[in-house]
Amino acid sequence: MQGRDIYAQIMGIRRPWTVVDVRTDAERKEVVVEVAAAFDAEFACIACGKVCPRYDARPRRWRHLDTCQYKTIVAADVPRVECKEHGVQQVLVPWAETGSRFTGLFEAVAIDWLKEASLSAVARRMGLTWHEVDGIMERAVLRGLASRKRVAPRRMGVDETSFQKRHEYVTVVTNLEGTEVLYVADDRSKESLAAFFRQLRPADRRKIAVVAMDMHQPYIAATRDAVPDADTKIVFDKFHVAKHLGDAVDKVRRQEHRELMADDDWTLKGSKYLWLQRPEHMDANTWDSEFMLLRESSLRTARAWALKEAAGSLWRYASRAWATKAWRKWTAWARRSKLDPMKKAAATVRNHLGGIVNAVVTGATNAASESINSKIQKVKRLACGFRNRERFRNAIYFHLGGLNLYPATAGGTHTKPRSALFF
Ligand SMILES: [Zn+2]
Repeated sequence: MQGRDIYAQIMGIRRPWTVVDVRTDAERKEVVVEVAAAFDAEFACIACGKVCPRYDARPRRWRHLDTCQYKTIVAADVPRVECKEHGVQQVLVPWAETGSRFTGLFEAVAIDWLKEASLSAVARRMGLTWHEVDGIMERAVLRGLASRKRVAPRRMGVDETSFQKRHEYVTVVTNLEGTEVLYVADDRSKESLAAFFRQLRPADRRKIAVVAMDMHQPYIAATRDAVPDADTKIVFDKFHVAKHLGDAVDKVRRQEHRELMADDDWTLKGSKYLWLQRPEHMDANTWDSEFMLLRESSLRTARAWALKEAAGSLWRYASRAWATKAWRKWTAWARRSKLDPMKKAAATVRNHLGGIVNAVVTGATNAASESINSKIQKVKRLACGFRNRERFRNAIYFHLGGLNLYPATAGGTHTKPRSALFF
């Protein structure tokens, strides 16, 4: 078999295209595979698909996968056709995407590497510039989003995640049934989430049954505007509610500790995590001795803790009426506690009671969003941070969007979506 035939076979070059020459340059460590179209081949306009007369041809080059450490270049004079309707157009070639300077297979291998290593590491290993790899990644995401099926989640979660500097956020919408990221928007405003809802069809917005979130006013407002009967569908995640209550207990403890220390009383010293830990996670010895004395004392912190623990047992009702009654009773108790942080937490619960009761009776949580969030932190560490939001957004879609990132021109081996390897 001649060199030409070998390259035609391994690159899957078929009629009307043929490999007409293979040149090696030992000094430059380069292989150039020359491909040409048959002179009588017919080509179509890429806009309308109609076969059109040839206009001229332009020389083009693509980087292909190396041949035994030799940089391998595919070169071809690519015909242009003249369409009456769409003007002069370059025809499609079967080994590369329009506008790319790499073959589809080369891009597919870069995509595989990008799933496991940082952009700069991939650039180094593949002999590319940072911007070239960035371009491959961006095209992969655009391609994946364009070929994605219609997005219509039944249960969705919305969460915010910080981007590089503190106090800069993106909003991430997750499909709670498939656990992939559906949408990434700048900021954490009402508009951030509204933009997601706008791209859904009205029928799909009606099908949404659960929107799990933190008690974040702008997300609540956006959901109320876009989703019919939103107040029966918004779910305030129980872990977020527990965190609010834990923070309140900690405020009570800090204040009380300061007052005790003024009298040289160190009872509360080093007790912070005892009050925040779930009893079932505490070892029996701590629970029965050290912590027993504290929680059965007359400390204000002990009362705050008892309130928090009581709320923790209110997540198991099947009936909306009973759940509402139990949580109302709890808020009334907290209001009478004379502990300001707990009274404040109770007010928050009262103002969000509908969404808390929705969470109780549906059993829905935003845990999938939380797990996506921790994966996003991993992506951030891999990239050593992001210089702009757009790159951050692309990286989230690339690693967590469940998209088919591969170019169709990469051939059969790379057309199926694969999950990110490093998770
Ligand atoms: Zn046309």
